[in-house]
Amino acid sequence: MNQSTKIIKQAIKEGRKALLEPEAKAICREYGLPTTKFNLAFNEKEATKYADEIGYPIVLKIVSPDIIHKSDAGGVLVNLKSPNEVLNGYNKILENVKKYDSNAKIVGVLVQEMAPSSTEVIIGAIKDPQFGQTIMFGLGGIFVEILKDVSFRIAPLTEDDAKEMITQLKAYPLLKGFRNTPPVDINELIGILLNTSRLVMENPEIKELDLNPILAYEKGAKTVDARIILE
Ligand code: ADP
Ligand code: MG
Repeated sequence: MNQSTKIIKQAIKEGRKALLEPEAKAICREYGLPTTKFNLAFNEKEATKYADEIGYPIVLKIVSPDIIHKSDAGGVLVNLKSPNEVLNGYNKILENVKKYDSNAKIVGVLVQEMAPSSTEVIIGAIKDPQFGQTIMFGLGGIFVEILKDVSFRIAPLTEDDAKEMITQLKAYPLLKGFRNTPPVDINELIGILLNTSRLVMENPEIKELDLNPILAYEKGAKTVDARIILE
């Protein structure tokens, strides 16, 4: 049994529908999706140890089955530049989250590599009752939320499907590079779309998957947040 199957079986056994970020990212990694490096800390000493191993700047995030939107709960701190900032950040996150929901069960704090800012893209998957696993692609921020500039295809995707999902966007010229925005690695994005398709096809218990955002670079890309919801 692969690690993804084990993670999903364990969540089902515990009656959890939303996977934790480290679980979702471990599944992404197993399917070849690039993610930020991470390690789960259970106390502030572990947090600084992992931060030293990963390298600064560091991002800290709450890991709780009761907190789905982490930043709403004050559960995300970015750009921490020293062991001392990580130590204080660890305690600050726990304090914020307790204030937000005093009953939230806290698993730990995820210590992760901070990905440099760049063009943000979003990949989603949703299991449609009629069509089955369906993949969505779009650019982050206003492009998805205001302009609804997104593309959809039913999985499994072919390479041509993945290419079209990218080139059919109105914002596609931006991905090719425009004025101050450098071009992004389109081949990497095609690979991520194909791997996402494989991930959801091989794990039919997944009802929703949300890679939001993926930071796209001139070479490569990095998923900084991954959410997976089971049926
Ligand atoms: P949530 O969506 O649950 O509120 P995210 O993990 O998406 O939490 O974090 C909120 C925002 O913080 C992201 O949209 C991104 O802009 C930034 N962020 C999170 N993790 C990283 C990271 N590892 N590197 C760089 N930026 C990050
Ligand atoms: Mg997010």
